[in-house]
Amino acid sequence: FVLHESAFMQSAVGPGGYPEPGPPEFAFAGRSNVGKSSLINCLLRRKNLVKVSQRPGRTQQINFFALNNDALRFVDLPGYGFAKVPLAIKAGWKKMIESYLESRPTLKAVVVIVDIRREPSPDDLMLLGWLLSLGLPAVVAVTKADKLSRNQAAQRLAKLRPQLAPYDAAPVVCSAVTGQGRQELWERLLARLAD
Ligand code: GDP
Repeated sequence: FVLHESAFMQSAVGPGGYPEPGPPEFAFAGRSNVGKSSLINCLLRRKNLVKVSQRPGRTQQINFFALNNDALRFVDLPGYGFAKVPLAIKAGWKKMIESYLESRPTLKAVVVIVDIRREPSPDDLMLLGWLLSLGLPAVVAVTKADKLSRNQAAQRLAKLRPQLAPYDAAPVVCSAVTGQGRQELWERLLARLAD
């Protein structure tokens, strides 16, 4: 697979708005502000295909992107865990993500993005638990690695690895700023196409 173009397809708030299942899909999830948009843009080598720093808390949707004339799709799931959002909206996000995960036959893997400087949140662990129980492969991207020195990053990873091990034995350390982990993340994803 050689990426040569990517384009926004459509947004959906529920299964009725999804494009027809077609090519394999990779979904991306994480708490708001974790760096999800930046990481997707980095993977696609696009500056602003996915809008960075959307204000958390506004109405969110699932965004579908077509790669190489829809040979492959990226699916940007709504960011979760923003503290100031009313409970009803949080429940809506949960439902939105859950419905997608449970109903998409073409979903090959979910990239769960966590910040290297923070502990995985209860929402992160809940999502990873769902993926495990649904039998959906999780690829954990530990991002913003550029925010730490190499030493600090290694120490954080040593702490995170055992917590993430039940879900992903080899989390990928990334940075959307330096491009660290980009290649490795692509390799992890493309490996899922083989099964
Ligand atoms: P999202 O809400 O998860 O989509 O997060 P964004 O991609 O909008 O990023 C949130 C903030 O973190 C923005 O200010 C980004 O510039 C910054 N950011 C995202 N990824 C990285 C990264 O890898 N390194 C650094 N230093 N900053 C990042």
